[in-house]
Amino acid sequence: MIDPFGRHITYLRVSVTDRCDFRCVYCMAEDMTFLPKADVLSLEELERLCSAFVRRGVRKLRMTGGEPLVRKNVMSLFRGLGRHLDNGALDELTLTTNGSQLARYARELAGIGVRRVNVSLDTLDREKFREITRWGDLDQVMRGLDAAQQAGLHVKINTVALRGVNDSEFDDLIRFSHGRGMDLVLIEVMPMGEIGGENRLEQYLPLSLARTEIARHFTLTESDYRTGGPARYFTVEETGGRLGFITPLTHNFCESCNRVRLTCTGTLYMCLGQEDAADLRAPLRASESDDLLDQAIDEAIARKPKGHDFVIDRRHTAPAVRRHMSVTGG
Ligand code: SAM
Ligand code: SF4
Repeated sequence: MIDPFGRHITYLRVSVTDRCDFRCVYCMAEDMTFLPKADVLSLEELERLCSAFVRRGVRKLRMTGGEPLVRKNVMSLFRGLGRHLDNGALDELTLTTNGSQLARYARELAGIGVRRVNVSLDTLDREKFREITRWGDLDQVMRGLDAAQQAGLHVKINTVALRGVNDSEFDDLIRFSHGRGMDLVLIEVMPMGEIGGENRLEQYLPLSLARTEIARHFTLTESDYRTGGPARYFTVEETGGRLGFITPLTHNFCESCNRVRLTCTGTLYMCLGQEDAADLRAPLRASESDDLLDQAIDEAIARKPKGHDFVIDRRHTAPAVRRHMSVTGG
């Protein structure tokens, strides 16, 4: 699949549920209204949709959410998609998780062929963790990390940089992650969805500032390491580990975008930062053959926009898009 700007679309991210066992302050409002269960695709339907994308050239699938591991019976979806790894149609099956359920599932995921997992962790402080996630338990996530590493999964830690909240902890997060052989990626907060009383401008920390601060204590050497994602990596000479920066606001990376995003209702978003979307549920349900679905996918890819227009400043504190990150999964 090639979009109008000549970009090869080889990566599909799938939000398997909009629900979550946490309520991170930058991601959700405390009193979120979730989708009625009837609107959500069954796991069998999600598998069929993902398989259609694999057939059309997607080489990498990432399950996300909401929290992918809170969806009931989600392992059956992983098992079904794992077949594409076995027959070589897919290079990678992976997930982004808050880690709360990893202790339970890490071993099974590894057995299916998952090799890498991204775990979101914004602080190492129990109290602060509770404040950021509203409902989360840091010890549970730590047990999840242990289980993932014991199962042989490569873990990457994702940290959303939050001004005045975790910006004093980056050094500790670097030492912690690299000490355990995990990459660390810092992410700028993006203006997605209403989040109740929280203020984006107050949360937003440009990573250019974070990098300058980190460079006072660590030697950062630019690295050409790429994961196919938007992160730009540096090697931290003192630890030997990798530190990535995802900077949608201070540095636009759309020119190399290779991905599209599917929600659990079968809506395909061609860009994280734009409202345009294609409904794939109707063609999926209209017939047992995949012809209509394939056609709808091709039409959607032909409309993939050039890029997003995220801005956060005093004049732009409203969300750039109405949906929450938990709808498209980041
Ligand atoms: N629940 C899983 C998790 O937290 O990893 C997967 C879904 S979550 C929406 C995916 C990633 O998006 C997480 O790393 C989270 O920190 C990040 N995220 C959520 N809302 C965001 C926002 N407004 N700006 C930047 N990153 C955000
Ligand atoms: Fe849940 Fe992930 Fe959003 Fe936090 S960032 S509320 S863990 S979906």
